[in-house]
Amino acid sequence: MTTNASAGDSGAAAECAAAAARARMVAEQIAARGVREPRVLAALRRVPRHRFVPRAWRGRAHGDHPVPLGNGQTVSQPFIVAFAVEALELPPGARVLEVGTGSGYQAAVLAEAGFAVWSIEILPELAADAAVRLRELGYGAVRLRAGDGGLGWPEAAPFDGIVVAAAAREIPTALCGQLGPLGRLVIPVGGTHQALWRVARTPEGFARERLLDVHFVPLTGAAA
Ligand code: SAH
Repeated sequence: MTTNASAGDSGAAAECAAAAARARMVAEQIAARGVREPRVLAALRRVPRHRFVPRAWRGRAHGDHPVPLGNGQTVSQPFIVAFAVEALELPPGARVLEVGTGSGYQAAVLAEAGFAVWSIEILPELAADAAVRLRELGYGAVRLRAGDGGLGWPEAAPFDGIVVAAAAREIPTALCGQLGPLGRLVIPVGGTHQALWRVARTPEGFARERLLDVHFVPLTGAAA
């Protein structure tokens, strides 16, 4: 029928426009700032970011900024998601824990980049919404749980990588303890002034490296 065909066409046109917006987002905000890992760039080109933001924000889904999710939480800025995933420096197939599922966007990027993904969200409503969204968009392989991610996910540990999407006052010791040999933790640390840190497990212990000034919502829960 004509009406159905035109509705379908406009849906397809909207998806094409979103794909073009993602290609621009990756070129102008991410590759231009030095993220090079091809699997990370490809993942950000593929994951439909506009489907993870509230409807009222869809037109601004690809802007160079975080997007509010409600509950005082945000979907991180595209560059920060790409930078943090690249900073894990892990091969495809690696086991990665995300703390702070939020919308599920970064979890989808991690899955598209080829990792096996576990993700924990402390707010049950956000965790429930993210579960539905990830399943609908084909990322049903991501294991999700509502709970305090500052304590990690002991039953699924050890992880090759842990990426935290909310700022901790200090690096949570429980997360370091759940890193496998040569595992890496990428985490924002601080209060008003925050920096993204990478903690790498080495044969001798742990090595830490300050990567970038950032601004994240605070980590809550027992480790905050
Ligand atoms: N990665 C998300 C960004 C979410 S913002 C995305 O791509 O959309 C940070 C999230 O961390 C918020 O949803 C917040 O509720 C959650 N959070 C804060 N403290 C937490 C904790 N201790 N454990 C799990 N999630 C936490």
